[in-house]
Amino acid sequence: MIIVMRRQASPADVAGVVARLAEIGCEAHVSAGQFRTVIGAIGDREVISTLPWEAMSGVEKAVPVLKSFRFVSRDFQEEDTVIDVGDVSVGGGSFTVVAGPCAVESREQLLRTAEAVSAAGARILRGDAFKPRTSPYSFQGLGEEGLKYLVEAREKFGLPFVAEVLDSRDVGLVSSYADIIRIGTRNMSNYSLLAEVGRQPKPVMLKRGFTATLEEWLNAAEYIYKEGNHQIMLVERGIRTFETASRNTLDITAVPLVKTMSHLPILIDPSHSGGKRELVAPLARAAVGVGADGMMVDVHPAPDTAKVDGAQALLPSEFADLMESVRALAGVLGLKT
Ligand code: PEP
Ligand code: MN
Repeated sequence: MIIVMRRQASPADVAGVVARLAEIGCEAHVSAGQFRTVIGAIGDREVISTLPWEAMSGVEKAVPVLKSFRFVSRDFQEEDTVIDVGDVSVGGGSFTVVAGPCAVESREQLLRTAEAVSAAGARILRGDAFKPRTSPYSFQGLGEEGLKYLVEAREKFGLPFVAEVLDSRDVGLVSSYADIIRIGTRNMSNYSLLAEVGRQPKPVMLKRGFTATLEEWLNAAEYIYKEGNHQIMLVERGIRTFETASRNTLDITAVPLVKTMSHLPILIDPSHSGGKRELVAPLARAAVGVGADGMMVDVHPAPDTAKVDGAQALLPSEFADLMESVRALAGVLGLKT
């Protein structure tokens, strides 16, 4: 049940509802929005739904939850979630560009890329120290050494960075270095890992599982939210379909749909979806047009020698060209980049 308070409800009204929920053995999640407070009631549905909530002081309405996810739903929070990472905001009327190499391969490779993407206008750096590889014999990432290079790049170029975490045992480590911690497509349904990142303080970037429905994806976000971390951004990165001409099929439709279903910001990854360099710019421009809150792009100073995902990486000069057209499109739509 979601209990929506009136605009004029007082703190005592809110406290009254919370106390009533406690009396019947239920948990209350209070979300104080800009205009009104909304209380999520968790507990036995039967017990909660029999009480006359709307008769209580300050209550506007009590809405039963029909969806399997609740706190990340638009019903629970009407306004868009905006996530602040340093002086960068994700969501709420901007198109935020995240860029960098798929994997941190060396100090030099990372610093060169970070300098180039920063000069071209990216606001957040990407680069992974832990890589989920299909083959156990492929490059797995530099681990903590890679995180240290990312910190150096942040200090030199002033870009906060996002890095993937693969294992619950590394959450504390990655969180102690990174500004945003990422859950990749393969781990979207790793519920213990989701709960673990929900218990650390850094914002979380949650990629869509390549076989996940939107409802499954939003339930994965709910696992994180429920643990207390409400700073979650979603990334549509393509799903598996019968089509083999592209690496994955970018589900453009997911963006406007997710926006009706959830208040969380949603970005597009035009690199991992198409899987080919020549598809990145058109898909990136589609991301602006469809109303995404940003995009995350693979950039590498020498894609031919990349240890991971070279085929989809843009050269720094190609990324700079793409940024020009993205900025122009975003400008037409009144979005900050
Ligand atoms: C990535 O962004 O580097 C990555 C591994 O993406 P995904 O989890 O979407 O495959
Ligand atoms: Mn990759």
